[in-house]
Amino acid sequence: MKFIYLIISTFLFNPVYLFADEGMWLPLLLKQLNEKKMQSAGLKISAEDIYSVNRSSLKDAVALFGRGCTGEIISNEGLLLTNHHCGFSQIQDHSTLENDYLKNGFWAKTKENEMTNPGLSVSFLIRMEDVTEAITQDLYKLTDENARENIVAQRSLEIVKKAIAGTHYEASVKPMYNGNEYYLFVMEVFKDVRLVGAPPSSIGKFGKDEDNWSWPRHTGDFSLFRIYAGKDNKPAEYSKDNIPFTPRYVMPICTTGVNENDFTMVYGFPGRTNEYLTSYAVEQLITISNPIKVDLRGKRLEVMNRFMEADREIFLKYADKYSSISNYHKKWKGETKGLLKANAIDKKRSFERLFENRVNADEQYIRYLDLIPEIKKQYDALEIIQPELDLFNEGLFVIELFKFTNSFATIANVTSEEISSDKTKELIKNLQSISKSFFKDYYAPIDREIATDLINTYYKKTNLSASPDFIPSFRKGFAAEDLKLAVDQLFEQSFLDEESEVSKFLNDLTVSGIARLKNDPVFQLVNFYNNFYKENILNKYNEINKKLIPLNRSFVKAQREVITEKQFYPDANSTLRIAYGKIEGYTPNDAVTYEWNTTGEGILQKNNTEHSDYAIEPRMKMLLENKDFGNYAEKNGALPICFAASNHTTGGNSGSPVLNAKGHLIGTNFDRNWEGTMSDIYYDINQVRNIVLDVRYTLWVIDKYAEAGHLIKEMQLVK
Ligand code: ASP
Repeated sequence: MKFIYLIISTFLFNPVYLFADEGMWLPLLLKQLNEKKMQSAGLKISAEDIYSVNRSSLKDAVALFGRGCTGEIISNEGLLLTNHHCGFSQIQDHSTLENDYLKNGFWAKTKENEMTNPGLSVSFLIRMEDVTEAITQDLYKLTDENARENIVAQRSLEIVKKAIAGTHYEASVKPMYNGNEYYLFVMEVFKDVRLVGAPPSSIGKFGKDEDNWSWPRHTGDFSLFRIYAGKDNKPAEYSKDNIPFTPRYVMPICTTGVNENDFTMVYGFPGRTNEYLTSYAVEQLITISNPIKVDLRGKRLEVMNRFMEADREIFLKYADKYSSISNYHKKWKGETKGLLKANAIDKKRSFERLFENRVNADEQYIRYLDLIPEIKKQYDALEIIQPELDLFNEGLFVIELFKFTNSFATIANVTSEEISSDKTKELIKNLQSISKSFFKDYYAPIDREIATDLINTYYKKTNLSASPDFIPSFRKGFAAEDLKLAVDQLFEQSFLDEESEVSKFLNDLTVSGIARLKNDPVFQLVNFYNNFYKENILNKYNEINKKLIPLNRSFVKAQREVITEKQFYPDANSTLRIAYGKIEGYTPNDAVTYEWNTTGEGILQKNNTEHSDYAIEPRMKMLLENKDFGNYAEKNGALPICFAASNHTTGGNSGSPVLNAKGHLIGTNFDRNWEGTMSDIYYDINQVRNIVLDVRYTLWVIDKYAEAGHLIKEMQLVK
């Protein structure tokens, strides 16, 4: 028995076998935890070259782009490279029927032509610091999770205040390892970021949804922005007098290409992973959440797509919404498949058994004995609540008009005395700006149809139909099969989906206006759903979660103590991380092997003018057929397009620089393979690949396709 246990244990937890290439590491700890391993895997530079607070280092050229992507600095004049899908909403914002940049691309011939993007920011990490001690001292004395959260928030605030005093920086404290550790991140945030260039969607989104989350890939998923600063090179609000930002570090671009098995690293801001979930959580994800969410998103996409295909103007309003909905719609499908393929539940169960065996065998760990059964108990309790949560959060709450209406909750409570107060004026200004962006991209017939679908699905699927007040008043008087009529009437009777009425209401706020808002049927329905959700779902969920959070925290702590042969990394949380691996293909199925790279030939093979996902422009076809690839070609004359590698990445790593052993840019990360979309929950080196746009294709598109050689001149190209 003992012998078998030993074999399983060494097989499963041999650090080289199982954990190779897994991990998103904190740059601050690179020297201590990873440098040696990275160097033995091929890295030629030091941890200090990657992250330093004493001198300029690679970290100074890596930026959090917007709130959910990464970008890298590639010129001394603040030029930033990110994905086309990261700049998509900005490109859409500038697009009209006359100037359709989504369709035709955009290239600023001079700096004066670069386009501003209100609301877009780009942030650099100045430094990070382990503040665990200051945050967690004495916390163990608290048994109430809310009290703990309050103290953590208070202490974080004090640390942040001290860290940014007398500077123009912003900062935040983020939990790591499920709240067992805390780190301070001091950031410099730039707010004047202009669009410089973007290829047409037929390049930047080549293969669209069909190819998304899959390999082999031929997508030129990049766009270019420029950061502007005040005269002092510090962040400034937009002004035409701002000047291009002079960065602390510029990423050299490698033009000599890459080979199979080359060392690679990805430096960026991965968004969210949940690697330490128990088998019970993963089981619920596979059996409950993902199927509900996929179904609901599928319904929305079907409606949007029908309208978008029929009218380019509607397409330009909904392109960005559609892309982000469809991105995770497909991802969750792949995630479920991948988790099943990898046997993730069983593997997590064996891990949990092993953990329990070790805990059982050692007196000092005996306090961890109840952890897994307790966690299981909470997941059992969640089983009824989880589908209800998903039905609201991916269903009723995403109806566009309902979301918009929610933002009017505060103004509905303004009293006659408060109507002309400064606070109300501020509130009105804010709502005016929300309304402006809402109506800019709103098409009511889409929303009505989606609302009908989602409400219908909700009432079919919910298990809470026995609750009192279950049927809201807008349905009263309508038979169940007449839901569409009820929704139509609801929208017709509301003023909230009419831009002119909303403007009138906000421009001249009156007591009777507020009364009208409160009587509005959509406003009332949204209130009804909010209350129903809170009472029947959220409160119960919070009760369970209050127990689950400390249990999960203890489980992560315990794993780190008990499974000593594994090096643990904190889950992604939009903070700067390094992942490393190598360039390699993979074998998804028996007799199927994928190569590690793709070429221009593949674009011509996929080109299909009948299928909009794969239709390239005549000019692109001509350039590819003429094989004028200049210095960007492989030795065999082919144009390199994308490559696959085994770096552990997630959403947020979109746009991240992919670097070679010398720290030179070889590509831009943009996706993962179909089998590997499950890596946010369970990483398996045999299944997971990140997908990278080869920087030589980016350069070729800029230079030869867009004839924007002036941008190449700004860059630092190296061999
Ligand atoms: N393409 C992905 C995304 O959009 C990036 C990833 O998750 O690997 O989120």
